[in-house]
Amino acid sequence: MSKRDYYEVLGVSKSASKEEIKKAYRKLARKYHPDVNKDPDAPDKFKEAKEAYEVLNNDQKRAQYDQFGHAGPQSQGFGGSGFGGEDFGGFGDIFDMFFGGGGRRDPNAPRQGNDLQYTMVLEFEEAIFGKETDIRIPKDETCETCHGSGAKPGTHPETCTHCKGSGQLNMEQNTPFGRVVNKRVCHYCNGTGKQIKEKCSTCHGKGKVKKQKKIHISIPAGIDDGQQIRIAGQGEPGVNGGPAGDLYVVVQVKAHEFYERDGDHIFCEMPLTYAQAALGDEIEIPTVHGKVKLKIPAGTQTGKTFRLKGKGAPNVRGYGHGDQHVRMRIITPTNLTAKQKELLREFNDLSGYEPTGENEESFFSKVKRAFKGE
Ligand SMILES: [Zn+2]
Ligand SMILES: [Zn+2]
Repeated sequence: MSKRDYYEVLGVSKSASKEEIKKAYRKLARKYHPDVNKDPDAPDKFKEAKEAYEVLNNDQKRAQYDQFGHAGPQSQGFGGSGFGGEDFGGFGDIFDMFFGGGGRRDPNAPRQGNDLQYTMVLEFEEAIFGKETDIRIPKDETCETCHGSGAKPGTHPETCTHCKGSGQLNMEQNTPFGRVVNKRVCHYCNGTGKQIKEKCSTCHGKGKVKKQKKIHISIPAGIDDGQQIRIAGQGEPGVNGGPAGDLYVVVQVKAHEFYERDGDHIFCEMPLTYAQAALGDEIEIPTVHGKVKLKIPAGTQTGKTFRLKGKGAPNVRGYGHGDQHVRMRIITPTNLTAKQKELLREFNDLSGYEPTGENEESFFSKVKRAFKGE
């Protein structure tokens, strides 16, 4: 079915003001509302008008529609909510749109409880190896005395006699548009649609009590900074028998003084003495899995990186282990004794400033050439 132009549907010009659009829609809504018009085409006409109004009454959607028409990038989303046939409540819900009656939602419908968020700070190693722990969070729990009804045991909440359970009161008003019904939240029951004659003494009628709840958390090995764990059903309790929300534990991993982590890999820097680097050595490298021996070949330069396979973090989804990457850094000696200085001078005279390695030679040749070129 091809859609009619929204302006055509409402019978207004492309330059119509918001006021004109509102007026036109109101007229159509009254004419075609299925509660008043029993014509078989009425529900479709009403839907069509409602959709046109929802788009043209919204500046952003209207601009998009003007530019792209029905085929626009968001045409699927236009007025997406509430034009299923089930949305035809009473006359009231048309007027809600104009007067912002609010609280159109059925107060007695089951609703999911709110999600909770908890930030957990972990040591570097705790994130690598995982952790079993208990946390305590303050949260609303369904009152055990009244099982959430808020009424004294043996009694039941009654349907609010003022709003008949809808949670809203119709306020008739005379406006320039005529006599209209404006919905307000029922102040007798605060919009819950229920009245409690005798309140539960534990929760004072709220149906919920604040408790420190202990929750066991399993932190999986390999979790990383910023990742979160969802614990289903540990959020706030649902309303009117709806499901509870979820608890999200967001992990913050503390920085380590020696290790750095990038995904499943761990990085660190190892200091080497000048002699170790020049002569080669076997050294011990700390890893989160314990010490590992590493052979340093003679002539190792600063920046040379060795890979210790499998010594990183386990993959949090179980896909093996990362590696540890060890970067060498040659430490220039300071605070030399007279004897050390003498030996170094002797060493220097012997090597005549000329490095002996192949790579360095080419580098020093470049430096020399640079001086000659002056
Ligand atoms: Zn009420
Ligand atoms: Zn209670």
